[in-house]
Amino acid sequence: MMTTETIKTTCPYCGVGCGVDAKIQQGNLIAVSGSTEHPANQGRLCVKGSALDETVSHHGRMLSPKIEGQNVDWDTAYSHVANKLSDIIEEHGPDAVAMYVSGQILTEDYYVANKLMKGFIGTANIDTNSRLCMSSAVAAHKRAFGSDTVAGCYEDLELADLVILTGSNLAWAHPIVYQRLAKAKAERPEMKIVVIDPRKTASCDIADLHLPLKPGSDGFLFNGLAHHLIANQQLDHGFIDQHCEGFDALSESVQQQTLAQTAMDCDLAEAALNTLYQWFAEYERSVTLFSQGINQSSSGVDKGNAIINCHLISGKIGKPGATPFSITGQPNAMGGREVGGLANQLAAHMELKNPDSLDKVKRFWNAPDLAQRAGLKAVDMFDAVASGQIKAIWIIATNPVVSMPDADKIKQALAHCDLVIVSDSSDSTDTLQFANVCLPATTWGEKEGTVTNSERRISRQRGFLSAPGEARHDWQIISDVAQHMGFKDAFNFTCSADVFREHAALSGFENIDASGNNERDFDISGLANISDLEYQNLDPIQWPVNKSYPQGRKRFFDDGHFYTASNKANLIAITPRLPTYAADCDQLILNTGRIRDQWHTMTRTGKAHRLLEHIATPQVEIHPDTAAKLAIKNNTLVSLKDRGIEYIARANISDSQRTDSLFVPMHWSDAFASHARANSLVRPIQDALSGQPEFKHSPVTITSL
Ligand code: SF4
Repeated sequence: MMTTETIKTTCPYCGVGCGVDAKIQQGNLIAVSGSTEHPANQGRLCVKGSALDETVSHHGRMLSPKIEGQNVDWDTAYSHVANKLSDIIEEHGPDAVAMYVSGQILTEDYYVANKLMKGFIGTANIDTNSRLCMSSAVAAHKRAFGSDTVAGCYEDLELADLVILTGSNLAWAHPIVYQRLAKAKAERPEMKIVVIDPRKTASCDIADLHLPLKPGSDGFLFNGLAHHLIANQQLDHGFIDQHCEGFDALSESVQQQTLAQTAMDCDLAEAALNTLYQWFAEYERSVTLFSQGINQSSSGVDKGNAIINCHLISGKIGKPGATPFSITGQPNAMGGREVGGLANQLAAHMELKNPDSLDKVKRFWNAPDLAQRAGLKAVDMFDAVASGQIKAIWIIATNPVVSMPDADKIKQALAHCDLVIVSDSSDSTDTLQFANVCLPATTWGEKEGTVTNSERRISRQRGFLSAPGEARHDWQIISDVAQHMGFKDAFNFTCSADVFREHAALSGFENIDASGNNERDFDISGLANISDLEYQNLDPIQWPVNKSYPQGRKRFFDDGHFYTASNKANLIAITPRLPTYAADCDQLILNTGRIRDQWHTMTRTGKAHRLLEHIATPQVEIHPDTAAKLAIKNNTLVSLKDRGIEYIARANISDSQRTDSLFVPMHWSDAFASHARANSLVRPIQDALSGQPEFKHSPVTITSL
């Protein structure tokens, strides 16, 4: 009889971070199911997670390292990459090289990549596709709390009396959190759910109120809420006085943002807006969950702070059922933030601009050439590749030729770059076409390591399948290149547990301030000495994990302690503004985003046929009135254009759209159809503080073909 083994691992798709039971027979994955013990999903899996077993075939995998299209052995590839990088650094300095990584890689991969670039090459030119996903929320957290802290947890959505989903189609983008919310609503129908979104999405199915606001006007709406709370004295004065700074400036900044003014600014009915404001004032237990609709904006940081302001002045933070909640897109965007995988971070939630932190990390890593200033963020990084300032870029587990804004420009930049190294598990992404060196990497089911989900929960991804061909783990490839560059001792890792222990030790290194508190929020030093076996068996746990919280921590800020110099939260007075480019009279606003059954650029989900049954081809959602005006018929081909760039797809006429907007999925690439890269139409406008691009608001023309 054949024996079946069950391995507990974590889904590689979204930031919910569901536990997966993988059933293995004779070395093959035969089925997956949701782990009942995992706190995030409690036995559930969404359609993408349920199809994981259909995506692990070796078909389409990169099997061998390649230099200029020729198969080579690993030693040749390592020597080539190390010599080329060293030559470029010697001639042009460390800032002439860059790394662009991914929220798909594991924390251990991220840690080694960041250590090589910032610690030993000596440049902070390492950024991640998480820049496109949640960097505005990171910056908003840091401005308000002095730290990048997600204050609450998923359970808060179930405990709340009011849940506001803003800039989030939770039902499609984070289905299991949505299912938990829907169950809570079914059990307590008196619970209120409000969706704030220009589109009437699937998340509206359980909503008591949908506010289809003017695209990009969220900052006005939340300043209007702050005005309402202040004008009606619905404030937590004790919390403000003891734990917040900047109330007077905030109060003054929202003085003119009356209900009538806000309704006009947001193109909403006053009565509906007032209902939201009254509910928020009334319900102690309120959660505001925000995602890409807030973050992917030229004022994404301000919008995040406008939301957080409302929670702080009403004391709705750090308590069961009361928190602002940023939900991340990717499975390990949080892990990337923890190791410092963004160009403006150092490591373990330490800052590049803090001399004390630089000194600590330099000593911890024994890295005399540690980078001293922030590197280039994603859009600027590829601009620097295009201009020739960056001469070598190493792209790991991401497909920027499809996913970046102004994606055609990424093609041109890579085509003219002296050295493009691409590590990927797939052998045929759009980005690989520009690679001088291709490095085959392991993927989900083969890799060992950890990821952190949106509620700060660290979970293990476990390897149970053999890697095809010569594929190796990313942390291993990066360490080997580092060793070939001469950085021997610092990259002497023998397994992912080694990397994790060092990362955990760094998180707690000299992490006590003058008052005896942890100086930084992220501290998992309680895991720094775990054995290989304990690492192998590590159960999901929410950080921090240290002396004060050996079993992890559900919520932050219940003690009123923030990580600013004064230990008080900052209320940030923002001036709301609309997106950078408005539509001309013959244009509509393009919003790009995810659909329910696909993930990123489909290199994995595209392998599962049943995931194509939901939406099989690229499409453009358009309102019936707009379609009628432009003589566009359902299911016929339409062309979207801007700046000479064209996207072609079939029209999907739907009253879920506003008349001024279009929605297009971002997943398809030229590998599936020509003119199918939606993000090529997105203008490379960024938030000045976070560098996050404005994916949600690109003016385009649409015509019938
Ligand atoms: Fe995977 Fe996200 Fe679905 Fe959970 S909700 S199964 S993490 S895609």
